[in-house]
Amino acid sequence: MPADPAFDAAPPVADPLPVDAIARSLRIAAGDADGQDYPAATLYVIATPIGNRADITVRALACLVRVDAVAAEDTRTARQLLHHYGIDKPMVAAHRHNEHEAADALVARIAAGARIAYVSDAGTPGISDPGARLAAAVRAAGHRVLPIPGPSALTTALSAAGLPEGPVLFVGFLPAKAAQAATMLKSLVATAAHLVFYEAPHRIVDTLTAIGSVFAGRRCVIARELTKRFETLHRCEVEEATAWITADPQRRRGEFVVIVEAPVDDDDGGLAHALPILEKLGAVLSVSEAASLTAEITGVSRKALYAEALKLRAAS
Ligand code: SAM
Repeated sequence: MPADPAFDAAPPVADPLPVDAIARSLRIAAGDADGQDYPAATLYVIATPIGNRADITVRALACLVRVDAVAAEDTRTARQLLHHYGIDKPMVAAHRHNEHEAADALVARIAAGARIAYVSDAGTPGISDPGARLAAAVRAAGHRVLPIPGPSALTTALSAAGLPEGPVLFVGFLPAKAAQAATMLKSLVATAAHLVFYEAPHRIVDTLTAIGSVFAGRRCVIARELTKRFETLHRCEVEEATAWITADPQRRRGEFVVIVEAPVDDDDGGLAHALPILEKLGAVLSVSEAASLTAEITGVSRKALYAEALKLRAAS
């Protein structure tokens, strides 16, 4: 591989851990982070890691150090997380089942001048997680709600999926009942956007099977265990997704984001653009391999490409 002058010019890294830079960022974040400080009488909605604990932001840590109390979806999970960073704070439970009542007590504390943090179990509160009701109650009472952004499985999956730029619709979890899930999927078929679903391991096979039948001809990305040891991102035709996930029991473990790619908006499904590539690959590979590889490169349906590859082979 030829040398890249931009990289060659970079000085060698003496210490693989930029400890000074991290300490400097923490000092900045703890003080006046880019002109935004930590006002009193405020709810801080803080995103936390979705797996890798190193993904907490320095601003989140600085904020957690400053607050008077932490309201959490699960106080045990939050305590473990804070403990990992050497932070100890009074905790209050605020989950789906008590968010309303918890909000009243927290609004009263904020009205008295407290800084309160809210953290869900993982990722960004309010994204398939509690936190929205509390934020609404604090805002309705005339107090400030300050977001401290950070990880979310939604943005993490999208950032590595490599999809064509365009609108994205976050669906989250499908309804638990199969009939309702199928109705919701069907209602999304004509939506001209990438569709993002969350799924748990015990339902991933059913969900991928339903997606495979409703969105036939489209492609999907299965993002599993993001930021964790067994992180996997697999892109395939939706019809192939169930076979892929059932081929190895390990693939069904963990947490999932499934992205169904937006329909290709040109009349022929992108075929015209893909044909020259298919023709070149078809000259050196089998029909099946050429179709699969062209689908991988172009995002066009493998089924359509396979049919075209057969025609090309017959004509040659
Ligand atoms: N608030 C979180 C966020 O911002 O992403 C989502 C919480 S929701 C209760 C949990 C779901 O998010 C999981 O079932 C899975 O679909 C997705 N998820 C969370 N962490 C994940 C990870 N590390 N890899 C893949 N999906 C993940």
